[in-house]
Amino acid sequence: MSLSIEQVLQQAVAVLSTSSDSAQLDAEILLADILQKDRTFLRTWPEHRLTNEQARQFSDLIKRRQQGEPVAYITGKQGFWSLALSISNDTLIPRPETELLVEQALQIIPQNICWQIMDLGTGSGAIALALAKERPASHFVATDIDFASLKLAQQNAVAHHIMNVHFVAAHWLTPFNAELQLDMVVSNPPYIMSGDPHLKQGDVRYEPERALASGKTGLDDIRLIIKQSYTQLKPEGWLLIEHGYHQAEDLHQLMHEQGFISINNLRDYGNQPRLSLCQKKDKR
Ligand code: GLN
Repeated sequence: MSLSIEQVLQQAVAVLSTSSDSAQLDAEILLADILQKDRTFLRTWPEHRLTNEQARQFSDLIKRRQQGEPVAYITGKQGFWSLALSISNDTLIPRPETELLVEQALQIIPQNICWQIMDLGTGSGAIALALAKERPASHFVATDIDFASLKLAQQNAVAHHIMNVHFVAAHWLTPFNAELQLDMVVSNPPYIMSGDPHLKQGDVRYEPERALASGKTGLDDIRLIIKQSYTQLKPEGWLLIEHGYHQAEDLHQLMHEQGFISINNLRDYGNQPRLSLCQKKDKR
């Protein structure tokens, strides 16, 4: 006799609870993915029976999760803002705290004026695509140093019919030597100290280190982004950077030294300093 949704979920949660602190959620997402239904279906039809093939597939996915692989890499999907994004282990898994950057940028970008905006190190395209969808009048360029990430981000743009983002292979703003006169630069760069034990723990182990770690202090890339952005922004243009919870003062200092003004720092939903923003001086 084949097993019901309720039964396989119970077994899976028992297996995962020793290795994952979100065992119930993980099991539900993986099962919903196999059944190609949403999680509400699982709650509504707990007595629905799986085919043997589905049960076998589910147990394979549970094994992968038990060994530590992040749910988002197993399903190849992650929700961010209003978008269901395809992801792969070439990119960081978009985090809920990064929605703070999107929320803040949207407070600044006007609705019906064409701003020129760059997203540096776009990964799966999460930030650029969320902003571009909300601000169709603006034009976005999203860069990444990794071709596989750019391809994925582009696929996400196509899947969501987002036409106002262009993707360019670049290491931050290095290849752009003319003044771009940008209205805004946004970035969620790597900012963890290389050698930080956090890199060897949990889901983070599976993510590309190039997207996470940035030198001894974690500030190597941020330093470069602040410097290069100043050159490429127009007067009064904005820079928004996500960073580690202990880096707000460092960013303030670096932004100030570069000549940025209106420097501000915002906390994420976990009440950790997570985003710094500033403006290039006007011409006066
Ligand atoms: N916030 C992420 C973490 O601590 C890191 C993201 C990043 O480096 N941009 O896992």
